[in-house]
Amino acid sequence: AKDQGRNNWQLYNRSLTAETMARIRLENDLRKGLERDEFRLLYQPQVRADDGTIVGLEALIRWQHPEHGVVSPAQFIPVAEDSGLIVAIGDWVLRTACRQLCSWQATGLETPRVAVNVSARQLRAHDFLGSVAAIIAETGIEPGQVELELTESILMEPEARRIDGFHRLRALGVHFSIDDFGTGYSSLSYVKRFPIGMLKIDQSFVRGLPGNADDAGITTAIIAMAHSLGLEVIAEGVETRAQLDFLRRANCQKIQGYLFSRPRPPDEVEQLLRQGSIR
Ligand code: C2E
Ligand code: CA
Ligand code: CA
Ligand code: CA
Repeated sequence: AKDQGRNNWQLYNRSLTAETMARIRLENDLRKGLERDEFRLLYQPQVRADDGTIVGLEALIRWQHPEHGVVSPAQFIPVAEDSGLIVAIGDWVLRTACRQLCSWQATGLETPRVAVNVSARQLRAHDFLGSVAAIIAETGIEPGQVELELTESILMEPEARRIDGFHRLRALGVHFSIDDFGTGYSSLSYVKRFPIGMLKIDQSFVRGLPGNADDAGITTAIIAMAHSLGLEVIAEGVETRAQLDFLRRANCQKIQGYLFSRPRPPDEVEQLLRQGSIR
């Protein structure tokens, strides 16, 4: 039994080291990836539930790794957060999304707003809100075309200064939504303190629609609550016609999901924008 314990410890110790090494390598690769311009953005349309009009585009990052191919954000965003690289990556994402919209507009195309994901670590970084304002000014985008997707956890330790920054950006025209709504802290006091305009119903609830009674109940309740608070609501991860029908009946205004479109590269999104809607 003693030997067994020792072996387990060695195994544990060795795999921990391997994991640490892999993490350090990934961190170095991420840093190089930024320098070598290996990231790109896909955009997923958000549509009106009633007629499929495109009302938004969520920017979703992808990493074209020179050896490993396309790496999904679930794999590298956590490492980027721990290492602090998320600050530079986050700036890159916002700048790239703003430039993309401006370049579409320069060709006469009408664009909906672009939604960009913000992680907690980014927000804690020095003057995040200032850098958002700077990127908006630098790219010349209409601030009302920018939406920042925040998570509930981000808003839980609010300092007065930070709340002030949100209100200043809102006064400029920037929109704010709550991502993955219902999966985090359930205190809703932040809805009053922050200038939130929209709730995004998490795909974990949408997945069970329409059959799962709990998911149906939660979804209906979130939509009713959003409306009584004067907020918009969008359902994420909508994959089936039955889910769409349920959400329409429940008065959900906006939809995002594979049923309408996967996240797509800019040239394909441009085609969709020229059509204006997805059916
Ligand atoms: P999220 O913000 O909740 O984004 C939604 C995820 O669901 C995306 O995965 C999207 O491709 C996927 N999705 C969309 N429609 C459907 C559907 O109908 N069915 C299913 N099964 N999935 C759907 P993705 O692109 O792999 O991103 C994963 C997560 O990585 C995002 O979750 C977000 O938390 C994070 N992320 C992505 N891009 C960025 C970024 O630029 N910055 C930051 N900080 N995080 C990002
Ligand atoms: Ca999101
Ligand atoms: Ca989400
Ligand atoms: Ca998520």
